[in-house]
Amino acid sequence: MRYADVIVDISLEKLDKTYQYAIPDALFSEAVVGAKVEVPFGGGNRRVEGYIIDTSETPVFDPARTKEIVSVVPGAVSVERRFITLAYWMKEHFGGTMNEALKTVLPVKQAVKEVKKRTLVLMADEARFTEYYNEALKRKFQARVRLLDELRGRSEADYRETLEKLRISAATVEAVCRDGIFSVREETMYRNTAEGVRSAKRPDLNEEQRKAVEELWQDYSQEKRGTYLLFGVTGSGKTEVYLELIERVVKEGKQVIALIPEISLTFQTVRRFYERFGERVSVLHSRLSSGERYDQYVRASQGEIDVMIGPRSALFTPFERLGLIIIDEEQEGAYKSEGTPRYHARETAEYLAKLTNASLLLGSATPSLEAYSRAKNGEYRLLTLTKRAKEAQMPRVEIVDLREELRAGNRSMFSRKLKERMQERLAKGEQVMLFLNRRGYAGTVSCRACGEGMKCPHCDISLTYHKGGTLLCHYCGYETKQPKLCPACGSQYIGLFGTGTQKVEEAVLREFPEVKVLRMDADTTKQKGGHQKIVEEFANGGAQVLIGTQMIVKGHDFPRVTLVGIIAADLSLYAGDYRAAERTFCLLAQAAGRAGRDRLSGEVVIQTYQPEHYSITAAATEDYESFYRQEMAYRKMLKYPPAAHILAVLVQAETEENAGLAAKRLADVLFAALFPEEKSGTVIGPVPAGLAKANDLYRYVVYVKALKYERLMQLHRLAAEEKKLTEAAMKCNIQFDFNPLNGY
Ligand code: ADP
Ligand code: ZN
Ligand code: ZN
Repeated sequence: MRYADVIVDISLEKLDKTYQYAIPDALFSEAVVGAKVEVPFGGGNRRVEGYIIDTSETPVFDPARTKEIVSVVPGAVSVERRFITLAYWMKEHFGGTMNEALKTVLPVKQAVKEVKKRTLVLMADEARFTEYYNEALKRKFQARVRLLDELRGRSEADYRETLEKLRISAATVEAVCRDGIFSVREETMYRNTAEGVRSAKRPDLNEEQRKAVEELWQDYSQEKRGTYLLFGVTGSGKTEVYLELIERVVKEGKQVIALIPEISLTFQTVRRFYERFGERVSVLHSRLSSGERYDQYVRASQGEIDVMIGPRSALFTPFERLGLIIIDEEQEGAYKSEGTPRYHARETAEYLAKLTNASLLLGSATPSLEAYSRAKNGEYRLLTLTKRAKEAQMPRVEIVDLREELRAGNRSMFSRKLKERMQERLAKGEQVMLFLNRRGYAGTVSCRACGEGMKCPHCDISLTYHKGGTLLCHYCGYETKQPKLCPACGSQYIGLFGTGTQKVEEAVLREFPEVKVLRMDADTTKQKGGHQKIVEEFANGGAQVLIGTQMIVKGHDFPRVTLVGIIAADLSLYAGDYRAAERTFCLLAQAAGRAGRDRLSGEVVIQTYQPEHYSITAAATEDYESFYRQEMAYRKMLKYPPAAHILAVLVQAETEENAGLAAKRLADVLFAALFPEEKSGTVIGPVPAGLAKANDLYRYVVYVKALKYERLMQLHRLAAEEKKLTEAAMKCNIQFDFNPLNGY
């Protein structure tokens, strides 16, 4: 007898283990590792589905009482063995249940009926055709006559089109086929997403690009695998490096996964992949139908494509011969999953690359501190591109102190300098982008006169405004009243920040009524293809000014943009979490990188209340090194990642009391575990989350810091045990997040 270990498809922590079932003889060949099966579960033998993750000859219980698998679910996609290994690793590293992890590594779960292409093929010779035609005429078979008229002199015709065009029934066609005049050929059609446009034009790689390619390639061709960080300023030609390496890897018979953040925003990049690899490339994006998605999955597993491009879930493409994984803009937040398991694509890719003997290439103009510190300590190989690829110069950047503007009596959104520059550029018929760095500022308080943000004295993190005028640090719980006057300069211009893209648009139109303006934000891009429409309209000169949030700074290449204005650079500095400075630097550097991409030279005006902040001065000079040094010192001092690791425990409950008590219980357990060896970590909280209530649930958070990730994993296992008990006892929901990218 064979037995199968099954993970049942119920995502509850208390069921997070395998259950053994006997495999009946009839299912012997199908019930293999990875198969989706139906099993009787629990006392009532309710039927549930699950995945077999192992098989053996030895029963763990009395064989007579071991239940049998009922069936193998027809049409279900099975999990490959290495993805089972990967799922287990993800569950251990990022939390959640094995069932949740399996679902994550299996982005396509069920076969979707395939589309058949049917073609009518002429069988009869000319004499027979004519004879048959005359017969049909004589007997007044009008539908048949129409069909024969249509197909006369052709050897093939599309079945569906013909029927629709002639408005004849399938029965008519069948009859003609039965008489041997035609036959119907059926082919399985893959719903292909590729446009299949190949183009021969490709630039000759410059010296730096060639060097980067050769460094990786030398290792690769000697069977050495590893992780590489391609650090290249914006426009330095990283994408060309990817394309060249992909081509070489594919030539060796291997396959490549390329992750791109937010595909809908970077269709210009995607098009370059199509141009190079034609139908051998496939793109996964959110607008694919489930049928299209399934077909890409099947094509990938059957080796019909060489390159899969997609968001983080494209990591789970079932390639047999994976050789290289590329993650473009590796610092992007989009690479961290927001559902359980909250995995990070970079870490997961590194493990997957090891499992499959592939290399991993990360690319960025502003690497994450994680990646860059690893490159510095030799874990990753560093490849650098220091110059823009085209003749273009780096843009000239000016920083404007908004405090000065206020002092000079200018309370408008535009500084005198930005307004002046806009006038000049618009008069020359060039284009302007205005960037509003809006993310995450909501609920933080700062002074417009001196630029001082209200920060926690213990954590150096912006305090969050709560109803009734209290300011709270949601890392440590520090609380204070919102001051009426700025504690630093005594000014009364202290308060919540707030400006929207719409307001910027109004302001532009007030100053430049004759100019055509486009706005790209959540509102204007709601419909399908919204981004693309706006991008194209702007690229075609349909407007002179484009206003937007982070969406506009990514990947686009607008040759006629010569001025980028950043309305308030420090807005994102006040986001209440330790990554605020990194995000600010990154956004500013990217925004600046949009100016003067082509032969026209570019300018950037950065408006800010904190002109001396290192994230702003470093971004202005594209001086990553200097930013990195200062930011890393801060992370080391306060033990934030990557200098240490953080586990966030988020507790949500219908009453504030339960949320607080449950969080306290977890904090106590974690603290007790840490106590004997206190130096290996700290517990912070519980405190109300920055977002203290959402969907009618009160939210509390506990943070655990540890120097070693392994230590954090141990603590998490402990907390996961406690979670089961606490959730049952206190009617709450508890979630874990390893090294969260955003504050809670
Ligand atoms: P990145 O990915 O680093 O932002 P891209 O690969 O998009 O840079 O390149 C920026 C621009 O420079 C693109 O228009 C690209 O076609 C062009 N380019 C890249 N490499 C070269 C090269 N070696 N010679 C000429 N143009 C190049
Ligand atoms: Zn002040
Ligand atoms: Zn604090």
